[in-house]
Amino acid sequence: MADSSYIHVLLPLKLKWEPVYSVPSCSIAVGDRVRVEFAGKEYVGVVTDSDASEDAAGIGPDRIKPVLEILTRLNRISKEELELWRQVSEYYLCTAGEVYKAAYPMGKIEEEQVKARLEERHKARIERLEDKIAKARREDTRARYVEQLNALMSRRQAPGPGGAAGETSGPQGPELSPAQTEAYSRIKDIFGNGRPALLHGVTGSGKTEVYMKLAREALDNGRNVLFLVPEIALSRQLEERTRAVFPEELQVFHSAETVPRRIETSIFMRSNPYLILGTRSSVFLPHRDLGLVIVDEEQDPSYKQDNPSPRYNGREAAIMLAGIFRASVILGSATPSLESLYNCSAGRFAKVDLTRRFFDAADADVEIIDTIAERKKNGMVGSFSRKLIEHIGGTLEAGGQTAILRERRSYSPVVQCQECGSILKCDRCDVALSLHHRPDGSEKLVCHYCGRVREYTGRCPKCGGNLQPLGAGTQKIEEEARKLFPEARIARLDSDNHSAEAGIIKQFETGQIDILIGTRMVAKGFDFSGLSLVAVLQADSLLGQQDFRADEHALQLLEQFRGRCGRRAEKGLFVIQTSQPDHPVYSSVLGASQDSAGFLKERKLFGYPPYSRVINIILRDYNLQRLELMSRFLSEALSRSGLSEGSSMAGPYPPAVEKVAREHIRILRVLLPKDRNLKSNKRIVLETLERFEKDRKYPGHISLDVDPV
Ligand code: ADP
Ligand code: ZN
Repeated sequence: MADSSYIHVLLPLKLKWEPVYSVPSCSIAVGDRVRVEFAGKEYVGVVTDSDASEDAAGIGPDRIKPVLEILTRLNRISKEELELWRQVSEYYLCTAGEVYKAAYPMGKIEEEQVKARLEERHKARIERLEDKIAKARREDTRARYVEQLNALMSRRQAPGPGGAAGETSGPQGPELSPAQTEAYSRIKDIFGNGRPALLHGVTGSGKTEVYMKLAREALDNGRNVLFLVPEIALSRQLEERTRAVFPEELQVFHSAETVPRRIETSIFMRSNPYLILGTRSSVFLPHRDLGLVIVDEEQDPSYKQDNPSPRYNGREAAIMLAGIFRASVILGSATPSLESLYNCSAGRFAKVDLTRRFFDAADADVEIIDTIAERKKNGMVGSFSRKLIEHIGGTLEAGGQTAILRERRSYSPVVQCQECGSILKCDRCDVALSLHHRPDGSEKLVCHYCGRVREYTGRCPKCGGNLQPLGAGTQKIEEEARKLFPEARIARLDSDNHSAEAGIIKQFETGQIDILIGTRMVAKGFDFSGLSLVAVLQADSLLGQQDFRADEHALQLLEQFRGRCGRRAEKGLFVIQTSQPDHPVYSSVLGASQDSAGFLKERKLFGYPPYSRVINIILRDYNLQRLELMSRFLSEALSRSGLSEGSSMAGPYPPAVEKVAREHIRILRVLLPKDRNLKSNKRIVLETLERFEKDRKYPGHISLDVDPV
């Protein structure tokens, strides 16, 4: 078979190896995509080795299957992309195929169709403009259209590879303040040493302007920029700011983008200088000539993908990506993650501080209100304390704005029967059902874990007694606020009214809303100049989970929220209503005791991350008995697996929500010291698991989560 060659192909599967196929001897290269058959199904795979030997397959050459088609229509995967997939898979203990699948979620649509559509849209735009020019009566209007038309026509023809690099830069941002300039030059020094810089600066200290300047510079040097944010929806203002500075280069990309949109973005990236503003999955776009990676709000848990595999953290993947391109990395935060602080102390990152707010406003004052004590002395009206009501009243009178955070969407998070006392639970999950009001006034019960919805009858399904909603979610709080402040303009922001989001944010920004009520969304990423009062209701729901990170996350969220108010010169007020006023998290907010140094000390003492690495092994099974038995077996197998000194294990234990969508869950937690054995320890965990699955033929589901958040 002299006229055939052999190739290795990476398939979008949880497959440890890369099967061998034969191709007719023609030009095929690493990164080409091919249609192949594997185990009776067809897949689009990626060529990872174009020159394999026929023995590599371990079967006779006559049994090696030929590829079905070389997909020249699809763009070639770059060696940098392949390298990133390998690094991510190695770190997160998954297969490169799973990363490939996440990076290229296949749809039916192909690049050609998207190109044709883009071409059509472009033509239509030109036609519309020509039409407008013909109809324009005034000379200056016509001139403006002509200018737009020229821009549109030239954009299409100009860019070849390397794009329009070297062209004059776009609009400049504002002049940096002395403090920003100082931070900026320190960052440049750090970049010069090839290290990531951690920019630690309170909200409003001007971090974004520093990013913009660094981005401008990278683009002027002909290199591209990736700007990561935790969530796009919450970054609309940032999007506007970025668009103002980089109108030509900006492409916005988030996880929910469709396949055509992804292809569109890839086409743009191939032929233009670009700045991608996007969520974690934008690390898997086909990057080229990357010069700078910005990770804003680097501590945000939404950078972590929980499900499905790869369970990666966008921040870590971004650092890997930057390493591959030798690009600079800047991480920014008002409350840096302990991981990043640890990396600074270990010398891997270097920290730069921006201590003052740009407009020099002082931090908001904090007032903690003990709801139990207040209730005893008749100081509560529903969910609001009289003290808070007074503050809101005062703010309204002064023409200021208020934001209220309640970390539970729904009308009531719990519904109880007044007769038999039972609490309505999802029959598939181990959680209480929430009562929601629909816009038309009807009511439904929703499981926040599996999403199941059913009608609310007001009658207990067990005894037929009357049901009573308990507690208040955002909807109820909105209702209460409308009664308390009938004259105020009030709106709600949570994932139940997603579609209204952009409008509400805009209205709040322009002062058309006085009181904004919502879930943690209201704490994130906005810059509202009129906001002078922020309040958290039932702050307890942020604490008290069994996770060792809960307090850290609660503190970060509270600090973030506090930073939202009083951004312009005047001082704001931050009210926390809680039934545990003595909780250490609040004294941290008050600046009294534990700060991140305190958290770090505690972590060191217990050998928790960032001083160790955690791997969660998650077992799911419909059959509880089998699950309990198997998780014990696996635990025993792991303790015999030869993990090095200093490693430890916890569990199997049930998580806070023990059953989701009928599957019971058990977790085994492995703690590995961060020493030279780390890599081999991780491999041992993976191999033990693989052997276990193979030997036991366990029908349940086992997954690995490295660095869970
Ligand atoms: P951060 O990103 O740290 O929250 P921002 O970059 O959003 O801070 O800055 C806070 C506010 O100060 C914004 O309204 C921003 O426009 C303004 N600002 C920051 N730096 C400058 C500057 N150098 N000149 C003018 N305004 C600035
Ligand atoms: Zn459920």
